[in-house]
Amino acid sequence: MPGIYLFLIASIVVLLLFFVRRWNSAEGKGKRGEKAVSLILETLPDCYLTFNDYYFSVDGHSVQIDHIVLSPFGIFVIETKNFKGWIIGAETSEYWIKNYYGNKYKFRNPIKQNLSHVLALKKILGVPQEKIIPIVVFTSKADLKCSVHTPVLYTYQLKNYILRTTNQLFTENEVNQFAQKLQCANITDDKRHQIHMIETQNYVLKNETLIQNRICPKCKGQLVERNGKYGSFLGCSNYPRCRFTVPL
Ligand SMILES: [Zn+2]
Repeated sequence: MPGIYLFLIASIVVLLLFFVRRWNSAEGKGKRGEKAVSLILETLPDCYLTFNDYYFSVDGHSVQIDHIVLSPFGIFVIETKNFKGWIIGAETSEYWIKNYYGNKYKFRNPIKQNLSHVLALKKILGVPQEKIIPIVVFTSKADLKCSVHTPVLYTYQLKNYILRTTNQLFTENEVNQFAQKLQCANITDDKRHQIHMIETQNYVLKNETLIQNRICPKCKGQLVERNGKYGSFLGCSNYPRCRFTVPL
């Protein structure tokens, strides 16, 4: 009999460990951040149509956008980050840094990441770029220390920011047509989601390898060590023509 109890206890411990790992994983945190934002977007008035965790394909590349809000006042494209700690970054740098009590982690500049989403969306919806409004949102666990002009907000600021944009750009009919286009282009197949994950990982890996070999991923110039306000970094030797930087 005690054998069964031991087996049960061991099973519960394994399950608990599994859930704790999932909860703490980057993917788990990302999904919780996205969930928090989608709940906020649900409270927008009826003329705002929201698409969450939206996948589509442009020129043979799959694209994933955390949130798209269609409205007569513009199309909002939202990238959500659920990071804890100081967030240091500039508008045009290639990477930003998360600093949590000295533990530094570099991640792709979310403004640039979101710009690629805007361009892809512009292509499938056929709307001018100035009518698509990119927003990066961090949960309030982050302490934003960014010098940027593209909106980088906390989740609690998001709804007001959207509602304050009141200049009418589209008719109700146009908004409905965009929604139909998005519904048609949406990839819901799980396999495609996996392909997207692999494509993203390959992109990151390719860049990492180039950087390790001190080659600029943007212009293939040489990367050299420099010192700046936030510590040492690698910068492109073709500066100012190429402004690629990565923290060390
Ligand atoms: Zn370069």
